[in-house]
Amino acid sequence: MNVETDTSLVYTGTQVNYYFVCKRKLWLFSHALSMESTSDAVNLGKLIHETSYPRQKQEFSAPGMKIDLLTQRDGRLIVQEVKKSSKNLMPGRMQLAYYLWRLREMGLEATGELVIPKERKRIPVELTAELDQEVRGTLVEIERIVSEDTPLLPVHSRFCRACAYNEFCWT
Ligand code: SF4
Repeated sequence: MNVETDTSLVYTGTQVNYYFVCKRKLWLFSHALSMESTSDAVNLGKLIHETSYPRQKQEFSAPGMKIDLLTQRDGRLIVQEVKKSSKNLMPGRMQLAYYLWRLREMGLEATGELVIPKERKRIPVELTAELDQEVRGTLVEIERIVSEDTPLLPVHSRFCRACAYNEFCWT
């Protein structure tokens, strides 16, 4: 089944990531209740990112994208997304798939890699036809959630402990 997507709506990779972490977090973030800078977990992630690949670091920004590392290998454009650990990779995988999808919309074919410096791992992500459709469906759902007047009620999950909205949700 093909999913119709309004490509004029530009969401960010962070919003795609949050869709798979917590729908309430997606809404709060999208409505500018951003508390990211106060989160120790987020700060740790930024520190790992900034110290792991200082020499080959080449960030790339475009509407909806802030790609950690962009490189070329064997004539292929490689988009790398740096993660703290290989636990709970689904949000990061879909964030990376979204970047590949956005690049394809811009006429650029690329391959993705989730990079986990602490574990010395690189996990390939290819934008298959199935993943392409999954990204399109995700964007439709993000649009639906963000356009709601209020967020969903909080639901405890493994993501709550390190979430910047923890106190907001649970006190
Ligand atoms: S604390 Fe938990 S319920 Fe609240 S936004 Fe974060 S992940 Fe969602």
